Amino acid sequence: MQVGLLCSGGVDDLRHVDLGLVYDIGIRTLFIACYEDEVRWQAEDLAGFFRQARAAGLEPYAVPWGYGRLLAPDPSIDSLYLQVHPDTSQVDSRGKRVRKACPNDPRFLEWFSSSVRTLAWLLECRGFVWDEPGFHHHRGLWSCRCGYCKRLFAAAYGHEMPRELTDEVLLFRRQSVSMFLLAAAAAVRSVDRRLQSLVVPSPRLGKEQRYTGSEDIAVLAQCAGVDGLCITVPWQEMGWDMEYGIREVNKGPAQIAHAHKKGCGLWLMAGPRREDRTIDALEFAARAGTDAVVLSDYDGLIAAPGFSAMRPALADAIARVGQDAARAVVARPRRRRSRG
Ligand SMILES: [Zn+2]
Repeated sequence: MQVGLLCSGGVDDLRHVDLGLVYDIGIRTLFIACYEDEVRWQAEDLAGFFRQARAAGLEPYAVPWGYGRLLAPDPSIDSLYLQVHPDTSQVDSRGKRVRKACPNDPRFLEWFSSSVRTLAWLLECRGFVWDEPGFHHHRGLWSCRCGYCKRLFAAAYGHEMPRELTDEVLLFRRQSVSMFLLAAAAAVRSVDRRLQSLVVPSPRLGKEQRYTGSEDIAVLAQCAGVDGLCITVPWQEMGWDMEYGIREVNKGPAQIAHAHKKGCGLWLMAGPRREDRTIDALEFAARAGTDAVVLSDYDGLIAAPGFSAMRPALADAIARVGQDAARAVVARPRRRRSRG
C-alpha cells in the first residue's frame, strides 16, 4: 500500500515543510495544494518546492484549488477568475448566480484548460488531483441552469431542461463532470502524456447525498480522463468507527474503480493524538486491501505538537504497510531521482 501526504497550507507554509523528515518516515508521495490566486503571483516559489520534493526522493502531485471555485471543497478558498468573470458562474434553480464556475461555460473551460496546461509546464509533477469538481446542490437548490447548460441539455434530450432535478438532469450533470474531467486530463496530457489525473468525488455524508454530478463512482471510473479515484473517509466528522468508514469505501467505490481497472486511494485525516488513530487506520487500511492512503495533512500531523513522540511508531507502520503488494493508485515511476 502506498502512503502519501497532503500539504495544504499554501506557498508560505511550504517553506516550513521538512522534506527530509517526510522521506525518512517512509512517505514517498506528496500531494501539494496549488491555490489559483497563489499560482498567479508565486508560481516560481511553488515550482521550486516541487523541484525540491523531487530532489528529496518524493513524487509530487498538484492539487489545484480555487479555479473558478469549481475545485474548492473549502468555501473559504477564493478565485480571482470568478471575481473578474462572475458571468461564468453557475445559475441555480431559482435563477440566481452561485459562486462556482460552470464547467459547461466555454469561456471558463478555455481559461481553465490554459491555466492547468501552464501549471503542468511549470511543475515537475507526476500528475494532478481534481478535487470535487461539480455542480451546486444544497437544501433543495441545484445548478446549473445557465444558457450554455440549458442549450446543451436541449440538444442532448430534445426538450427544455426541467425545473426539477429529474433523472435526466442528474445524468446530464454527471456527463458534464465527465466531459470536464476529459478536458482537464487532455490539457495536462498535452504537456506530458504520462501525467496522471486523479479525481476526488464529493464525499457521501451519512444519509444525505449531495448531487454534484460526481456522486456516481461508476461514471467517474469509466471516464477516460480519470486514472484513479481518491475517496475521502470522513469517519471523525461523521462519528463513524474508523474501521466502518474504510470498509465502506473498499466495499463500494474501490470495487467499482477496480472493475474499471483504476486504482482507489483513501484520504484520511491524520494527527498525533490517540483519538486520531492514524497508525491503526494505516494498518487497518492495508489489511483491508486498500491501494493507497493519503494522510491529511502536513500541518495536522507532522507539524502538530506530539508528532515527535509518535514518529518512530509511524515510520514502522509505514514500512510494514508499504510491504503489502496491493495494487497502486498509479503505476510506480520508472526512475526515482537520488536524494540531495
Ligand atoms: Zn451552466
